[in-house]
Amino acid sequence: MHTTAPAPARGLTTVEAGARLTADGPNLVAAPAPRHLLGRIGRQLADPLVALLIAAAVVTTLLGDLPDTAVIVLVVTINTLIGVVQETRADAAIAALDQLAAPTARVVRDGHDQILAAADLVRGDLVRLEAGDIVPADLRLAEAMRATFDESSLTGESVPVHHDPGAEAAAGTVLTTGRAAGVVVRTGAASSLGAITELVAHTKPGPTPLQRRISGLGRALGVTAVAVSGVVFALGVLAGQPIARMAVAAVSLVVAAVPESLPAVVTLTLALGARRMAQTQAIPRRLHAVETLGSVTVIASDKTGTLTENRMSVQQAVTADGLDYTVTGTGYRPAGEIRQHGQITPIPGELRSLARAGLLCNDAELMAPEPGRTEWAAAGDPMEAALVAFAARCGLDTAAERAAAPRVGEQPFDQATRSMTTVHRQETGGYLVVRKGAPESLLAPRADAALLDAAAELATGGLRVLAVATAVTTARPDPADPPPLRTAGLLGIGDPLRATARDTAAAFARSGVRLVLITGDHPATAAAIGTDLGLMGPDDTVVRGDEGSLGADDLDHARVYARTQPEQKLDIIAGLRQRGEVVAMTGDGVNDAPALRRADIGVAMGGGTEVARQAAELVLVDDNLATVADAIGEGRRIYDNIRRFLRYALSGGIAELLVMLGGPLLGMPLALLPGQLLWINLLTHGVPGVALGAEPAEADVLDRRPRSPQESVLGDGLLRSVLAGGLCLATVVLAAGVTAHRLDRPWQSVMFMVLGLAQLGVALAVRARGVPGAGRNWSLLAAVAISAVLQVAGVLLAPLRALLGTEALTAPELLACAVVAVLPGLALRLVHRRAQRDLRPVRG
Ligand code: ATP
Repeated sequence: MHTTAPAPARGLTTVEAGARLTADGPNLVAAPAPRHLLGRIGRQLADPLVALLIAAAVVTTLLGDLPDTAVIVLVVTINTLIGVVQETRADAAIAALDQLAAPTARVVRDGHDQILAAADLVRGDLVRLEAGDIVPADLRLAEAMRATFDESSLTGESVPVHHDPGAEAAAGTVLTTGRAAGVVVRTGAASSLGAITELVAHTKPGPTPLQRRISGLGRALGVTAVAVSGVVFALGVLAGQPIARMAVAAVSLVVAAVPESLPAVVTLTLALGARRMAQTQAIPRRLHAVETLGSVTVIASDKTGTLTENRMSVQQAVTADGLDYTVTGTGYRPAGEIRQHGQITPIPGELRSLARAGLLCNDAELMAPEPGRTEWAAAGDPMEAALVAFAARCGLDTAAERAAAPRVGEQPFDQATRSMTTVHRQETGGYLVVRKGAPESLLAPRADAALLDAAAELATGGLRVLAVATAVTTARPDPADPPPLRTAGLLGIGDPLRATARDTAAAFARSGVRLVLITGDHPATAAAIGTDLGLMGPDDTVVRGDEGSLGADDLDHARVYARTQPEQKLDIIAGLRQRGEVVAMTGDGVNDAPALRRADIGVAMGGGTEVARQAAELVLVDDNLATVADAIGEGRRIYDNIRRFLRYALSGGIAELLVMLGGPLLGMPLALLPGQLLWINLLTHGVPGVALGAEPAEADVLDRRPRSPQESVLGDGLLRSVLAGGLCLATVVLAAGVTAHRLDRPWQSVMFMVLGLAQLGVALAVRARGVPGAGRNWSLLAAVAISAVLQVAGVLLAPLRALLGTEALTAPELLACAVVAVLPGLALRLVHRRAQRDLRPVRG
């Protein structure tokens, strides 16, 4: 065990910390070992379909059928290669996401507060914790203000534990209330979290519902393919074909008809989609999120930061005497002016006291611009930082004021009372008690009637209103039970709507997603914002969380909830989900974690608490709700592409089964040779299939209704379209074969050619519609072109002919094959376009 002397209040220097980091290594518990290449290859080969193929290769070798053996070995090799590459890319994409969602910590270095990656912490670092932070390393607490920790992650005990200064806070536990600061005593594997690494490393996320359904579908397809192949085998043998050859043909048919790359394509599509989302500032923490996003029907959003910029500034102040002041200044820059009736005014004593009280009952700091950041910024709660800037604008020396009135007691912010209280020792002797919070919590209905009216007026203007009250005592008071306080005044704090907020709200409306605003703020503030966003009309009302229980009617219609407690968010989410809605919920506070977990998709803010981030499925780096709209579009695109792949691969598989089944009935005992089936399988499923996952979103992807989560992957007409596509393909192929048969031409090679090219035609037909040239998925076009060339080479090049057992076709015959092969794709495209036109418009 390392021991560390208490760090000075200035923390370590960057140089010292760098040296320790080099010596001790990063503050990380061991990452799970990466998968080995051999292991990956082994898993690919263990696939039942591949095992079947290998068995078939043994049979063909024993029979001395070297061309078929060669084709089978080629197919197994290339499929394994594609499988390994897909899996590696998917793993890399997921690992990159883990990195992005990695935790951070507030550390004092060189005397300044900094936000660093938790991995960079070293022994001796002074770390500050606020409610909602996950303890980033084992800390010896130097400061603990009513600090309670949830240690359930380590002990399983869910009752929060109180720790005093001197005690140790274990890595991985959560500070639920109060605040604390402590010196790092152990990091990484040596920390408490290291002790449970075994557990962490071995809990791998399970398959997503879609992945599970797709494996189910794969199994059903496998059984069908085996049954049909059995019939093909029997028909061939009855028609006098050699048993061994028919056995190999039957195995090849199973392999060709089942899209064995389906699970890999789904995983890769989800993983690459997740990576694309991450690039647009929405980091999915699980693949589940990527697919669920496409079917979200309700977004329950909080206000601050998500719809607003979370760049707060005090804009209005009302002192107890009823005088009101306007405050100017930009962002958190301490410079600004105080005006009254438009004129700059000297700062009256009342206003100065109000500003001083707001500065003292406050845990935030302002951070001056530094290299890499041109603006002043907030460390801590942005609203409290606004009060610090306000105090500076009122001419107070904020550091000196705080030093002159050290805090000797406090009651941290409590959601239930919507207020916080601090006690300070005064230079002049005695104590100053400051309480700040929601006006309803602080003001007396009678005595402060005028101020309550003023508060309502400020709120109607969309400002968040804070009341401040103070008292001076001689004896040191208990902050939990302060003496009677005198109201010092009101502060109206503005937080501009994000420039994109209105467009985002409109985009949700278009895409059939109901945006619901849930805030702890004043109803008038909430109404002002709700109206501004177009969520509320003049006749709509705000549902208040502090006026009894929420009714069923509210759940169906309400768009704006105000003065809600975090537990009520849980009720709202549960109620909406009971009604069959798929709910995405945003949150950032420590109390939001349960609701984030309860929602179908918990969306945490990158700038919110660590617990919220860890409870969420999606983390918004930029805290912007517009990003969720983009992520929903991305989720829909991914789902569309998985269905595209299904439409393409399944109709091809069905066509192959029908051709092999129909051939004998039409006088063609073995419609296609095993090698030919496998060749087609290789050219169609491999690269073009994977390339379909990269199709861009259709232009109207956000103008459609959300899909029902209960809907099967083959639902909404896809099964019908797959069957019709397969039938259409098979008909064209068999018709071409029969015609060639009649004309005494190499019918088998004609069917081989038409089937291969027609499937590639389907790949082109299922592409996204309405995509401009620049957004085209060139990888698909290239994959189809290369596959088509290889397909034609299968009858033109002598060595390939020998391998595949094909015969040469003349140029006119090849042209005829190509023309016929275009038909199924063309038909599919036209029918699909009509079906899309008939789609009902989105509900309002
Ligand atoms: P939003 O939806 O805007 O994110 P919220 O639901 O997170 O809001 P809270 O932050 O819980 O709302 O704030 C609710 C009310 O509590 C505020 O309107 C304010 O009156 C009061 N309040 C918030 N923060 C503090 C604080 N640090 N000190 C005192 N009172 C506060």
